[in-house]
Amino acid sequence: MTIIQTPQELQELLKNETQSIGFVPTMGALHHGHLSLIERSVKDNELTIVSIFVNPTQFLEGEDLDKYPNKFDADEKICKIAGVDILFYPQKEDMYEDDEIKVIAPNIRGFVLEGAMRPGHFDGVLTIVMKLLNIVSPTKAYFGKKDAQQLSLISQMVRNFCMKVEIVPLETVREDDGLALSSRNIYLDKAQRKEALKISSSLKKATQTVMQGNLNVKEIQEEMEKVLSPLNVEYISIVSRAFIPQKEIVIGDSIILVAAKLGQTRLIDNLWI
Ligand code: AMP
Repeated sequence: MTIIQTPQELQELLKNETQSIGFVPTMGALHHGHLSLIERSVKDNELTIVSIFVNPTQFLEGEDLDKYPNKFDADEKICKIAGVDILFYPQKEDMYEDDEIKVIAPNIRGFVLEGAMRPGHFDGVLTIVMKLLNIVSPTKAYFGKKDAQQLSLISQMVRNFCMKVEIVPLETVREDDGLALSSRNIYLDKAQRKEALKISSSLKKATQTVMQGNLNVKEIQEEMEKVLSPLNVEYISIVSRAFIPQKEIVIGDSIILVAAKLGQTRLIDNLWI
């Protein structure tokens, strides 16, 4: 496995590359969720490139940028064992100059839910993903459904800017007890870890309600609220795949999303129906 630090070196290395390239962009502190994307890329492509970059422009003032876990040595080993060919590990100054052109999230699906709670977050995400996709020029890029809105916006960006990459969405990987894996789970103390289970439990409850034939969004939200109580819930939202709020669940076109805070730690999870 080769470790590359600058976009220029990586582009030089890939200049004459004709093999299929799978790309997995991450912020590091790799867990089995990331690994599922990497393994799929290794399976599907002749070359796999993973990036680790804690992108400062997608963090808001007062968020956890300064304490975001850095586990580079462990991440490097995980990538090597998983069969990654190139690990791209740039620094901030390699990726940005002053007064740059940015990608701006669209008005509707970019400004609800995460976009409403974290203004500017998606502009930061889309801009860095655009840069990374242009540097790597992958055949396929792999993203988790765990970050549903991010995935939807990246797919839209690729469509709107006529980019050639194929975006491959993959299922959320969970702990045995249901908690969605996240690099931020390490912030949770024992009591918070237990409380956090209410998030996936509320989604399970929603599944049961839908399976019993109740598709009413308000009633499903109320059921979920009961399970989530007394967590500090930021939103429980049911939207279409295009992030338009729904009154009734549409099988095959609904996503149920939850965001909640456990102390200072903000967790998100969702269920695609
Ligand atoms: P991050 O390092 O948090 O920026 O995540 C990098 C990629 O891993 C994104 O495409 C995420 O959606 C994906 N990811 C994060 N957590 C999970 C998970 N539990 N299961 C599957 N994919 C995940």
